[in-house]
Amino acid sequence: MSASVATSQTSADPLLAPLLVGDRRALAQAITLIESTRSDHRERADGLLAAVLPHTGKSVRLGITGVPGVGKSTLIERFGLSLIERGRSLAVLAIDPSSKRGGGSILGDKTRMEELSRHRGAFIRPSPAGATLGGVARRTREAMLLAEAAGFDTVIVETVGVGQSETAVADMVDMFVVLLLPAGGDDLQGIKRGVIELADLIVVNKADGDLKATARRSASDYQHALRMLRSPTAGWTPEVTTSSAQTGEGVAEIWEVVQRFNAAVGEKGIARRRAEQARAWMWNEVGETLLADLRRHPDVRKLVGGLEREVEAGRTTPAAAARRMLQAFHGR
Ligand code: GDP
Repeated sequence: MSASVATSQTSADPLLAPLLVGDRRALAQAITLIESTRSDHRERADGLLAAVLPHTGKSVRLGITGVPGVGKSTLIERFGLSLIERGRSLAVLAIDPSSKRGGGSILGDKTRMEELSRHRGAFIRPSPAGATLGGVARRTREAMLLAEAAGFDTVIVETVGVGQSETAVADMVDMFVVLLLPAGGDDLQGIKRGVIELADLIVVNKADGDLKATARRSASDYQHALRMLRSPTAGWTPEVTTSSAQTGEGVAEIWEVVQRFNAAVGEKGIARRRAEQARAWMWNEVGETLLADLRRHPDVRKLVGGLEREVEAGRTTPAAAARRMLQAFHGR
């Protein structure tokens, strides 16, 4: 028996032991490892993830989205500090697909959550640059597992409310929070219905000063709007609150809603959601990996440029071109 223990110890990744005792440097290095696209790194990352899996799943997983400027980083900082006061710990992971465009990332350019980041109980990680949304989402899921293995009992996945990233985040967390700005009735129409449909909680931020009354009105408008929609989560009716990340009013209270959510959905409900997410994630991995293999295939690469031009010019249908590409991939 001692021999097998020795074997497993020598084959264990050197990051594993420090990670499991909550060493933040080890966590940061492990995340860098999973973000790497080198195939030897990928292999090592897969081994590490398999080893940490039994130590994951114990955190409260929250998603937070909102347009740039709504107050995400201000609110997460305050909220995070209030969690730490309650004796909790927090990992903040960001999904920012805009960082790939080279024009600078929306989330990453400024120094964010400075006070929170100095706390031992907090860990903040921006999203990897140069990745596609699919790639970022994949790595963020894995980073969440690593953070859980390192003992963080709350994970916030933050995303800018642009494009498809909200769905990607909602698909990896237990509870999804949408931050909105105070807005008049007409502006309500402008809010993408798709995002509201994902919300377990809507928080109208900047409910302070001149905007306080508007924020209250918007909150009740959203409450009405939500009644027309199906709840994204069985056992829970989505709620609307107001907050001021600036003064702190209503921020710590978000945690009360999270606790009520957890009680209403129940452990079984959360477990079921996570199981569904894991299954969808597996198929997503299959899709991403297959597509990457296809793009790398030498015979496919020879065809791609020509097929794209033919499709663009309307000389070949997209379906026929896709079939030719797949035939080349399968060596037919
Ligand atoms: P993010 O882009 O969503 O992360 O937004 P930030 O947290 O960077 O906030 C954008 C701006 O709004 C900053 O100037 C903040 O100081 C300000 N801000 C954030 N929350 C509030 C709030 O609750 N009330 C007011 N009045 N300003 C806020």
